Amino acid sequence: MHNSIIIIGSGLGGLLTGFLLSREGLQVTVLEKHRKFGGCLQTFKRDRFTFDTGMHYTGSLASGQPLSNYWKYFELSDRLDLRKMDENGFDRISYLGTEYPLAQGFDNFREQLLPYFPDEQTALKKYTNNLQEVADSHPLYSVELPPESNNDHFQSILASSYLSDLSSGIRHPASGIRLADILAGNNFLYAGNPATTPLSQFGLINHSLISSSWRLAGGSQQVADILVEGIRANGGQVLARKKVMKISKKGDLFQVSVKDGELFVADQVVSDIHPVATLELLEGIQVQKVYQERIRSLPNSVSVFSIYLGLKSETFPFLNYNFYHYRTDYIWSGLPSQGAEWPNSFLFMTPPEKDQGKFASTAVIMSTMLFDEWKTWKKSDSGAREKSYFVNKAKKAKQLLELVYTKFPDLKKAVVTIDISTPLTWRDYTGTPQGSMYGIVKDANNPQKTTIFPKTKIPGLFFTGQNVNLHGALGVTIGAVMTCGEILGLPHVLKSIKQSL
Ligand SMILES: Cc1cc2nc3c(=O)[nH]c(=O)nc-3n(C[C@H](O)[C@H](O)[C@H](O)COP(=O)(O)OP(=O)(O)OC[C@H]3O[C@@H](n4cnc5c(N)ncnc54)[C@H](O)[C@@H]3O)c2cc1C
Repeated sequence: MHNSIIIIGSGLGGLLTGFLLSREGLQVTVLEKHRKFGGCLQTFKRDRFTFDTGMHYTGSLASGQPLSNYWKYFELSDRLDLRKMDENGFDRISYLGTEYPLAQGFDNFREQLLPYFPDEQTALKKYTNNLQEVADSHPLYSVELPPESNNDHFQSILASSYLSDLSSGIRHPASGIRLADILAGNNFLYAGNPATTPLSQFGLINHSLISSSWRLAGGSQQVADILVEGIRANGGQVLARKKVMKISKKGDLFQVSVKDGELFVADQVVSDIHPVATLELLEGIQVQKVYQERIRSLPNSVSVFSIYLGLKSETFPFLNYNFYHYRTDYIWSGLPSQGAEWPNSFLFMTPPEKDQGKFASTAVIMSTMLFDEWKTWKKSDSGAREKSYFVNKAKKAKQLLELVYTKFPDLKKAVVTIDISTPLTWRDYTGTPQGSMYGIVKDANNPQKTTIFPKTKIPGLFFTGQNVNLHGALGVTIGAVMTCGEILGLPHVLKSIKQSL
């Protein structure tokens, strides 16, 4: 058996893959370009404040639920500092002065929304039943082996069409918004696009969050730290400041060169970085032209503009929910407004500390944004940008904060520090083309073409991470299990995971 594996990138996908393969006895080396591990799990510090970058909440971590089951194997479930979000509204969708709650528990979900849409009882019942059908159609969601030809027809149904057909279209008497818009009101989470987002993606994410919703108190870095510790305890190596520059082959072995000139050699390679970025690293390795062209032609999901606020002590309340606000009734985040029209919407959060009290210490604001708004500076690197870039950054932050302050007027006087990240920050930080949040777009019109399989056309080279299967905590976890399944055999991997339950 091939025994040594190099994993490129220490995001959630790379670390889970590294943990599983090292636990199953393979010799694992994870190479990370940054000084800190975790990719989108990383937290950063400004003064006394700690901020999450790309993982703010996650679903189905209650005992016996899908992510909890998987994370037991990865020795995460019992060690994380979790905080359950508001049962009666973990997400609140705000539009024209009304806040619509998305609640935890399927019965509770319907009960909490029904008063806002009293004529939509049938649609709400159908909705929760349909989410369950989507979940049931994914055996891996329940740690079960999929049949040989698992034809997922929910992949080829548009979430937007499904939602339009679901409800009667009756509008809320005060705000005029439809139930369908509220059900997709947290679509920032999957960069929802009415022309592409598949019902399978929409359904799995919503099923997971309605099952139960959690934050990682003190930050998501804890997930990365526990996994790094686990890989090392299993005999693997996890190395920082090792930016991979080249992947080549000598005989049967892969040679992976990093920026400082060091060379790593292994039987197999798993890439946790974007598939296009992976192809660009290959040197002297033959890859079918059609395969390369297909991967390079796939569009990426939208990018994001984020503001991280440090707050004065005991001035702004801690909110145990996410607040999604819409300025108009156009709700799709995957196609954001531009220029002076931006932002049409935002996500506002007050992440919990380890000993969270009544007041928030930080707030994070995010709004999706097109990379093209930053194309003037696209050739610049983080740490070496022109003055005009910072002027634009401040202008956009002002536009976003002005909208946020209309909903939270007391926030303004509570702010002590402001940090901002743009689509260029994301591009340079994760190495993802156009600073895309969730990688390659899954398209209901062409699910086969937009599915990235863990096994590549290059023998011994595999993909893991958010482009395989799905993005997000649960999506990347199942994707990592699929990747390890290609290497060790899926029945064997699932058996090991089940034994840990
Ligand atoms: C703004 C934002 C908010 C999000 N919010 C949530 C949320 O609330 N809940 C949720 O479940 N999901 C959320 N997600 C999605 C989730 O964070 C990602 O899907 C997931 O963390 C991606 O993991 P990954 O392993 O695929 O990639 P990444 O985390 O991008 O990791 C890739 C790693 O590879 C490294 N790397 C890149 N190039 C090289 C190289 N050449 N050599 C070595 N290393 C390299 C990078 O430094 C990075 O560490 C969010 C994402 C974003 C961007």
